[in-house]
Amino acid sequence: MTTTATETASENEKSAAWDLIGSLFWESGRTTAKPSDEEIGLFMDGIGAGDTCTVVGASTKDLVEALIARGAEVTVLDFSARMCDDLRAALPAGSCRVLRHDITRPAPEDLRGTQQFVLNDRLVNRFSETEARRGVEGMLDLLADGGRLHTSIKLGLYPMDERMIAVGRERGCLERFYDADAKIVDFAAAGDVLTDALLPHGAIDSATLLQWYRGRGREQRFDHDDIVALLDAADVAGRTLALLATTPFGQAPSTRMYTAEARPARQDG
Ligand code: SAM
Repeated sequence: MTTTATETASENEKSAAWDLIGSLFWESGRTTAKPSDEEIGLFMDGIGAGDTCTVVGASTKDLVEALIARGAEVTVLDFSARMCDDLRAALPAGSCRVLRHDITRPAPEDLRGTQQFVLNDRLVNRFSETEARRGVEGMLDLLADGGRLHTSIKLGLYPMDERMIAVGRERGCLERFYDADAKIVDFAAAGDVLTDALLPHGAIDSATLLQWYRGRGREQRFDHDDIVALLDAADVAGRTLALLATTPFGQAPSTRMYTAEARPARQDG
């Protein structure tokens, strides 16, 4: 199937939420939402000059810059037009490719099976259950056989989830926006609970912040076993992912980087 970036981006309505944020994320957002220098070091493990690397998420600008400085051949994919534009404007011209693409869709034709590394920081935390499965398969689709996925994930609930759950319980409306069995938080359905539980995100103004959360809609929360199962279930035309390592992010509570390797389809018979 041929997939154009514009087609795929327009199908995911969550991209509008990120169009509200763009460069505000790295200019004014909470520092702890971005990878620290130590965490960037973990992402960069094993990457050398000339290696083909795709970062999914234009907001992860510091990692993109570190890869460029290392001499890697960097592509950035993001489904938000503003995120792509703001990152292009912030980087030296020609230093990397920035393409509009929704990772929950099949990889762009010219990138499929080509990348030695695919990297993303806490991107999986922005996905619903269906998006998580498709997103990991979109990442696998980019990787060459033997290529590595470095994906960091926050396990469990965020402090703001906990506040929303407490307020929802108090007001007897928790079921409206939180499914405890599926571990799904639906920011779009939380109404006043979201407004009243909102925590600051650096210096981003609260009106923008509220709209951003509402537009993010349904997000799944994970434990370690969920991630192991998610990686294990990934299958793109018989190609799979093998989990190699799980590395704690020292400074970020309950956050780990999962390293997985793309394995070729089995030749039966
Ligand atoms: N902690 C992260 C950081 O340091 O940038 C932020 C989380 S995640 C990487 C956010 C980025 O992913 C945003 O730029 C957003 O537009 C992008 N994004 C979210 N969902 C996406 C999707 N389905 N396809 C492509 N990009 C996506």
